Amino acid sequence: MAPMSTRLEGKVAIVTGGASGIGAATAKLFVEHGAKVIIADVQDELGHSLCKSLGANTPIHYVHCDVTCDSDVENVVDVAVSKYGSLDIMFNNAGISGDPNRFIATSNNDAFKRVFDVNVYGAFLGAKHAARVMIRAKRGVILFTSSVASVVGGETTHAYAASKSAVVGLMKNLCVELGEHGIRVNCVCPGAVPTPMLNNALNMNNNQTQHLLSKVAVLKASILEVDDIARAALYLCSDDAKFVSGVNLVLDGGYSTTNMSFI
Ligand code: NAD
Repeated sequence: MAPMSTRLEGKVAIVTGGASGIGAATAKLFVEHGAKVIIADVQDELGHSLCKSLGANTPIHYVHCDVTCDSDVENVVDVAVSKYGSLDIMFNNAGISGDPNRFIATSNNDAFKRVFDVNVYGAFLGAKHAARVMIRAKRGVILFTSSVASVVGGETTHAYAASKSAVVGLMKNLCVELGEHGIRVNCVCPGAVPTPMLNNALNMNNNQTQHLLSKVAVLKASILEVDDIARAALYLCSDDAKFVSGVNLVLDGGYSTTNMSFI
């Protein structure tokens, strides 16, 4: 695949959770804009087939990486540097919705910890190992995927909402800590977008999810799609956003300003 623009030319990016949904859309868009991309995920077959579908000469590579495993995350950063020469963009996007039980009195303790393990500890490990390389280079962009659940209450489970609020806290602190090294740190903050994760959480197929979301959309023209998040990630990781840091960029078509709820 030949790059369609030079917005990320010469940049090397890791996208965690890049085998599916938002991560897959972002990995593809980054490549189209000239980046060399490493997809880090636990869905090996999906990750390999995504890379294959883009053509043998496309600079995209799949690495098995469980974001909750320190040595896996360390390894994927090392692979990026050894294979492509640097690490300019770390997109800590992997996430899970966890146990769908919304009632705290009957919630499962281990399920709560598991959501934090993937969504928060995984994001921390990604930032930690990326920072090791980026501080040396005195440049870089760290991007996280939060959620509107970090902005409004009652949207999802308490565990998921708490985990995504923690990601925003992590992002803000790293923005200050890493700013002196020339590293920008931001979040994309999606509203509900049809992906395998959301379909599973709602126990719906993609068409049913789309129908549900269209009923509560503020912007009636369309519903949120993974490509909308990917384009925001592209902006935040490109030099177009060279003075943007510490932002939790909400992409929900105005949904979080209302008192509507899709569940
Ligand atoms: P998805 O299920 O399509 O993609 C998530 C990816 O993360 C999958 O490929 C999965 O294998 C991977 N993953 C899960 N656990 C992992 C682990 N331990 N190590 C490595 N990879 C792991 O879902 P998505 O909706 O694209 O989710 C991407 C991010 O967007 C998540 O952080 C999610 O919380 C966030 N988000 C999603 C929505 C939504 O409505 N879909 C809204 C707001 C935020």
